[in-house]
Amino acid sequence: MICLVLSGSTIEENLSQFSLNRPYIDLMELRIDLLGEHARVAAAEFPSMVDLPVILTCRRVVDGGSYAGPEKTRLALIESCLEGKFAYVDIEEDVKRCAAEQKARERGIRIIRSLHDFSGIPSDIFHRIARVAAKGDIPKMAVTPHSVLDLITLFRVKEELSSVTEKIVLGMGDFGLPSRILYKKIGSMLTYCADKPVAPGQISAQKMKELYRADKVDDRTRIFGVIGNPVLHSFSPLIQNPGFHGINFNAIYLPFPVDSVRSFFILAEMIKISGFSVTVPHKQAVLPYLGKITREVKQIGSCNTVVRAKNLWMGTNTDYYGFIEPIVADIDAKRIQSALVIGAGGAARSVVWALRNHGCRVTILNRNIERARQLADETMASFDSLEHAAHHAQVDLIVQTTSVGMIPDADGDPIPDFPFAERHVVYELVYRPRYTAMLKRARQAGSKLMFGIDMLVRQGKLQFESFTGYHYPKRLEQNLGLEED
Ligand code: NAP
Repeated sequence: MICLVLSGSTIEENLSQFSLNRPYIDLMELRIDLLGEHARVAAAEFPSMVDLPVILTCRRVVDGGSYAGPEKTRLALIESCLEGKFAYVDIEEDVKRCAAEQKARERGIRIIRSLHDFSGIPSDIFHRIARVAAKGDIPKMAVTPHSVLDLITLFRVKEELSSVTEKIVLGMGDFGLPSRILYKKIGSMLTYCADKPVAPGQISAQKMKELYRADKVDDRTRIFGVIGNPVLHSFSPLIQNPGFHGINFNAIYLPFPVDSVRSFFILAEMIKISGFSVTVPHKQAVLPYLGKITREVKQIGSCNTVVRAKNLWMGTNTDYYGFIEPIVADIDAKRIQSALVIGAGGAARSVVWALRNHGCRVTILNRNIERARQLADETMASFDSLEHAAHHAQVDLIVQTTSVGMIPDADGDPIPDFPFAERHVVYELVYRPRYTAMLKRARQAGSKLMFGIDMLVRQGKLQFESFTGYHYPKRLEQNLGLEED
């Protein structure tokens, strides 16, 4: 079940959040601690105004809520609200027997016994879940994983406590996001969503239902994802999930913040992850775990796509092909014979190797000249310092691979003096914004422009083929242009 946490301060505001989210949710949590004084009085009426089950909750400040008054008053408020037709009431695990609890039992309202831990995961989490369940209540553990190893503990809940059918388990914060999306794999009966997050890591109900289709996950759903740190901003779920849906492929693709690649491979075996994309800073760190790699991965020394192949993990690099694909014809026809590559980082390695493997002459310019020299040595290219960019205006192709110009540094231009001309092809790897400051200058000069977002989509489509064995659905491609600016 997908549960919407209502964060309004009035009943009207909450009714409006309810109607906006109605298509995506199965139940709601009315947080009376977030309501104004007047609205609290009317809270008991709320379940009769909506056509979905409602959880009644009055969260204390210590548990991440807003209720700061005396405990006696809080429990009396919960008790009075239980006059309403609530389906569940959330009473914290440490609250001793109280009148609210008794009233809930008399009225057939199920009790959720909650524990919130914002510092970590209690060492006795399994025991505590079992103890609450033994009393006939629904245990709820909202805890804070700080690493992939912590996340593994949460994924063990399903196996360790398979006899406890009704329980709520979720990880808060960035490392907890996979547990919120894969709530069914953890054995949690519901996941919480909100328009305005009221707990760390909550996402919107629309995203949970339409992008991830989290409520459709079953035993046969294949799990894919992207690993990185940070990774929550990744566009890849927006490419892969609609593609899976478009070909009726029972799969889900989600971001995994990863602190340790080693731990992630343990998790990947445990929950049978079928494949994943790899982003900064793990593109090199995954290499020792791969049983098979392509020639490009070996040359570049970095891998951005991993798939399960029989009993081993296989690594490929779709940046390489996503970059070179649209210019191969021009290189073969000798319209592009020489290139200036700005940058010598991870992306530049794919670019330079792809150009060199296709017979293009390359000069690498980088702020750190030693890094440019190293890549040039490996690939039999030339190098120079960034300040000398204007001396290389005779090239056919300019490829910008640094992070300069990327939002929030949208005015940044790594080669502000470079004299762009009509005959140049200018290839930008930064994809946010679509038109970087450098591309705007090249557009004014009449150069041919190639966009980072298009390369991102191309490499994503290639990953989709590796993951599914099918082409990306053509009719969805137009939705992938993402924003124009
Ligand atoms: P990286 O390995 O960290 O390399 C960063 C590069 O940017 C290095 O050459 C670095 O120079 C240079 N740089 C950073 N700040 C600079 C500054 N202020 N002035 C001059 N140079 C600077 O990063 P990466 O993985 O190569 O990614 C680079 C960019 O490519 C990112 O914006 C990424 O989003 C984009 N990318 C796009 C795609 C796509 O599909 N469109 C694919 C991959 C990457 P030093 O060596 O001197 O530090």
